[in-house]
Amino acid sequence: MVGQKIRTDFPVLKNNPDLIYFDNAATSLKPQQVLDKIMYYYTKLGANVHRGNHHLSQKATQEYENAREETAKFIGAKKEEIIFTRNATESINLAAHGLEKQGFFSAGDEIIISALEHHANLVPWQQLCKEKGMKLKIAPLNEDYTLNMNEFEEMVSNKTKLVAIAHASNTVASIIPVKEVGKIAHDAKALFLVDAAQSAPHFEINSKKIDADFLAFSSHKMLGPTGVGVLYGKKELLEKLPPYNFGGSMISEVTYENSKWASSPEKFEAGTMPIAEVIGFGEALKYLKKIGMQNIHEHEMKLTKHALKKISEIEGVKIFNPCDEKKQVGLVLFEVKGMDAVDLGVALDESANIAVRSGFHCAEPIVSSINPLGLARASFYLYNTLEEIDIFAEQVMAISKMFK
Ligand code: PMP
Repeated sequence: MVGQKIRTDFPVLKNNPDLIYFDNAATSLKPQQVLDKIMYYYTKLGANVHRGNHHLSQKATQEYENAREETAKFIGAKKEEIIFTRNATESINLAAHGLEKQGFFSAGDEIIISALEHHANLVPWQQLCKEKGMKLKIAPLNEDYTLNMNEFEEMVSNKTKLVAIAHASNTVASIIPVKEVGKIAHDAKALFLVDAAQSAPHFEINSKKIDADFLAFSSHKMLGPTGVGVLYGKKELLEKLPPYNFGGSMISEVTYENSKWASSPEKFEAGTMPIAEVIGFGEALKYLKKIGMQNIHEHEMKLTKHALKKISEIEGVKIFNPCDEKKQVGLVLFEVKGMDAVDLGVALDESANIAVRSGFHCAEPIVSSINPLGLARASFYLYNTLEEIDIFAEQVMAISKMFK
């Protein structure tokens, strides 16, 4: 059950009948089931978690912890390896901060990322390297925007302390062979962090098979509410990692002089968490699981193949992806020759209510290296259809003709 058959589950689609929502890489729409679950918490439970002894607090705690269990199962992890954060960005910052405070890094060490990283997996490491006198190395891409594995492997040495890489790109769309990358990192005794913000929503991922030490993703890109992110960390690493925030809930004992920390994951969840959103996220994962990640992936591959064919046939349009649905996720980064990406986005919106994103997509180094003025991006999800892609392609063609 994908595409047309599930569109009635999504109120934004019902309330905007002719909307073509192709901005899924920025954030996804939410099904009624997730909204109902949030309302259930606010109307039936309402209490804080991990605090009260009254039954509403206990029920809320149970729902919150069920969402953690659901998240753990979704990526093949243990419950205590799942930390809730605000978003993928905060998850990566938490790992960076914790490792630094733990004394994991020294001057002269190296961190490797790839050329296609989102700012979330670039700026934290860049800043850390500046502060600690370390070197940030950027693994280059091949001509088809996939990772150049040979050059990456050559960069790895006994100075490499961490490899942090996106599983899938939010701009050039390529899928990174994370298992192989992780093995190379681990052979050099480096840690391995995976930014799964653009993979977890779209195909099955397993933290153990990837053998990631840390893995980060966001609820809002996978049918869940905003305000929730996930940091997975191997149990033994999380035990060594110091807390990110201090305060209530993350302690086991406090005196005026000293405090002791709770064990993971509570150690990393200080203060009142976004309870309704976490519970809603658990429901989003159940929704995805019910449809099946393999079905979602196959549907998106069909959409992507069709979009790549249709868009590449249009005169004056250029695509900046691997252009092979097996090597990429469901998005198309493109330009209409001579046209500003923002103007293109506005034209698609005004002419046919098509929502795409334009600009640098929070990945300025890679996008500006392709086009210093930015690019347009159409990104697909389980509720999109082949018919929507046909309308989109017609509109891009009409706009590019006008612009010739
Ligand atoms: N990494 C990638 C690859 C992304 O696409 C995004 C979101 N665009 C992020 C990280 C950051 O996610 P968030 O804004 O939810 O923190």
